[in-house]
Amino acid sequence: MPELPEVETIVRELREADLIGLKVEKASVFWERSIAHQSGAAFCKRIANQEILDISRRGKFLVFSLKQDTLLVHLRMTGKFLIDKEDSLVHGHERVRLYLSDGSILRYEDQRKFGKWYLVGDPEQVLKRIGIEPLSKDFTLTAFKDLLKRSNRQIKPFLLDQGFVAGLGNIYVDEALWQAEIHPVRTIQTLNEKEKNALHKAIIKVLKAGVKNIGTSLGSARANYFSVSGRRGNNQQKLKVFRRDGLPCLRCQTTICKMVVAQRGTHFCPSCQKL
Ligand SMILES: [Zn+2]
Repeated sequence: MPELPEVETIVRELREADLIGLKVEKASVFWERSIAHQSGAAFCKRIANQEILDISRRGKFLVFSLKQDTLLVHLRMTGKFLIDKEDSLVHGHERVRLYLSDGSILRYEDQRKFGKWYLVGDPEQVLKRIGIEPLSKDFTLTAFKDLLKRSNRQIKPFLLDQGFVAGLGNIYVDEALWQAEIHPVRTIQTLNEKEKNALHKAIIKVLKAGVKNIGTSLGSARANYFSVSGRRGNNQQKLKVFRRDGLPCLRCQTTICKMVVAQRGTHFCPSCQKL
């Protein structure tokens, strides 16, 4: 599933493709349920003739600011964008396409069909429960510690919850917890000040590395993450713990273990990340 660094990479590539300033001339919806809260026909009618004023990111959402409305897209498991310079055949996994005023087509493919498009007047309707942006200047150590005070869950489910810190998912949570040497099922109450500081620093570090390496592509199948231009991320080669179970820890050589936490495969070093 694309997390903050992958969505950020997609946003940057859509901006670089000069979509800002173009108008959506018309839209086609090939899978009704990709559109939230309204029918495909209503969506097509409403988005037609709206200009794209900006493209940004909030958590794992892509945010297209349009002339009248905001289009929010959550890619979930397998959603991805492609740009065609001219009209082309509809791909088997294509769910939505936008015909733009320069003749190009923004295509949205989603093999597993969990992704959602929200076309709304007020983006807060969808984004109001999303927590702090970890790469923004608001994500200070104090702000992070204040969030930690609001929960006494295990640390991994807490970090996966988009209502506290936005944009983290399974990969970057495992990486951050390894960096900070914290076991994924430690409860927040048991973390000391040094560990909280280390975790704050680690979250920023792993996300920045992910963005710099244009995201993490786990497999080579079409369903896996690719950027808009079809590039695979490079971050998978830099991962320290995620999917390294059975291999030696890069810090202490102990074999990396895997367990299930919050229904997610979780990777950790039993010796660096003690319970
Ligand atoms: Zn270790």
